[in-house]
Parts: sequence; C-alpha cells; structure tokens
Amino acid sequence: MSIAPITTITLQGQLVDVLRLELAFPDIEGNKHFKLKYNLSHALEAGYRSVMTFGGNFSNHVYATAYACKQLGLHAIFILRGEDDSHNPTLKYVRNLGMETRFISRDMYKMRNMPEYIDTLAQQFGRIYILPEGGTNDLAVKGCAEILTGIADQYDQILCPVGTGGTLAGLINTPGLTAQVTGVSALTGGQDTLTPAVQKFILPHAQHVQWKIMFEKTMGKYAQFHPGLHKYLQAFVADHAIKPDPVYTGKMFYFTEELLKTGNWNNQRILCVHTGGLQGWAGWQYRYANAIARLN
Ligand SMILES: *Cc1c(COP(=O)(O)O)cnc(C)c1O
Repeated sequence: MSIAPITTITLQGQLVDVLRLELAFPDIEGNKHFKLKYNLSHALEAGYRSVMTFGGNFSNHVYATAYACKQLGLHAIFILRGEDDSHNPTLKYVRNLGMETRFISRDMYKMRNMPEYIDTLAQQFGRIYILPEGGTNDLAVKGCAEILTGIADQYDQILCPVGTGGTLAGLINTPGLTAQVTGVSALTGGQDTLTPAVQKFILPHAQHVQWKIMFEKTMGKYAQFHPGLHKYLQAFVADHAIKPDPVYTGKMFYFTEELLKTGNWNNQRILCVHTGGLQGWAGWQYRYANAIARLN
C-alpha cells in the first residue's frame, strides 16, 4: 500500500503512475508534510515554543510551516526579504494562522544561513527552533525517505521536482529502493551546487542508487511566468484531470514527457511524485494576471 493514492496516466503513449501527495496532504502542501514531521516533533520534544523560518513571499514551505505550527500550538515566525504586500495571498493566509512576519533587507537576507546572523536572531527572539529556507535539513530528508513507503521496489524510474533537493535526497534514501531517481530542477541555476548539496544527505545504504538532477531550462526561471509553461499546465489539467502546481510539478511533468520522447524509457515502470504546492496557484494568478489574460 502506498502512502498516497496513485493515478495512472498516459504521457507520450506510455503509462506513468503519479503518487498524489497533493491529495493525501492537501493542507500541508504535499511533500512538506514529510519535510516538517520530524523537525516539528523534535522541536516539541525539545521544549521549543517558537519556530522560525525563511522563504520567498509565495513560498509553499512557509505556507505549510504556518499550518503545521498552528496545528501543534507552536508560534511561527517568518523572515522575508523586501517589502510587505498586504494583498499577497500566501502572506494573508499565514498571518491568518497567526504567523508573525518580519521583513528584512535583501542584503540582510543573504546572511540567513550564517551562524553569526542566526545568533543575533536568537538574541532577538529568544529560544527558537530554526528551519532553514526551503526546510531542508537531516530531519527533513529523514521524513522524505518515507514518501515511497510500500512501493519502493515497484518502479524502474522515479521522478520528482527539485527546489533545495531535500525531497530528492529522501527518495534516494528510501530503504529497499530499486529505481533510478531523476530530480527535475525548478531553478535554472545551481548546476554546480545542487548535486553536491543533495549528495551530502545520501546515507551509506543508498550510495549505490543511481540518481541525477536535470535542469529544465526551456520553461522559464524559478517561479517566473512563461507562456509555454502556462499553456502546458492548462492542457495537462484538461487531459489528465490532475492539477500540477505552477512552480514545481508542472516542470516535472513537462520534462518527463521530454524524457519519454527519447524512447530510452520504453517498457520502464515510471512513477512521478506529485509533491503538492497547489497553494502556489493563488500567487501565480495574483502576480501574473495580466500575462495570463493576454494568453486567453
Ligand atoms: C517545496 C517543494 C518542492 C521542493 O522540495 P525540495 O525538498 O526543496 O527540493 C517540490 N515541489 C513542491 C510542490 C514544493 O512545494
């Protein structure tokens, strides 16, 4: 039994299974359930009352963190760069859940991973549990190693979208995995840094797993509007009755089709992991309403 429903669709004439984390964990945005579970249970056990994290103004990670902290009675603090925008749907949502938002300058934000900066935050806020931007750390990767529970030996190829790569690292670490794993990056940059960043989370038992990160470069930069991508997403929903998110899973499905066109995966058992992120549509419509209107 898989942890989430599986839907079989046809892409480029070939059957592809989709693991529907977006259905199984709708409120907490799919993969973020796995990234947060051990972090927040650890925070609670260690007696923390507040959780602080970083992210973009439309971040799925922040959205999920706000929701999970509310459920668990933890105070949540969100550090963002730039200026406030009271109409931003993600910000409205997290504030409704009681998350505190603090804006810092872009220059300060660049220091977000530096220990000295973290120390100053600790002085300001007291004892806080800090989740890095995107939420990736050892405990997040540990949680993501549970995504394929029950189906680890049933596929030849498994694909997932990549932001920071924590989810990909977790999939690779799945006990008993028989598949090759392909991560499709939602960012066009980071070719030199992302693979080593993922590698450092791979546990000894998984060192033999074959995996790689592909960079989808034709559908625009991270979270940027691209007419081709938007049209692809619309067609995908109409054809398959599965809604990808606009930032991550849309590019994964698109790139899966590109890979299938090569014929190299004929007769392979393929699984795409739908990591959720559907809250991203509100921000997408909000930011790109004009561009979308011009398309239709
Ligand atoms: C956060 C997110 C990802 C990226 O996960 P990483 O562990 O940072 O690589 C992928 N898909 C969706 C929908 C997300 O929200």
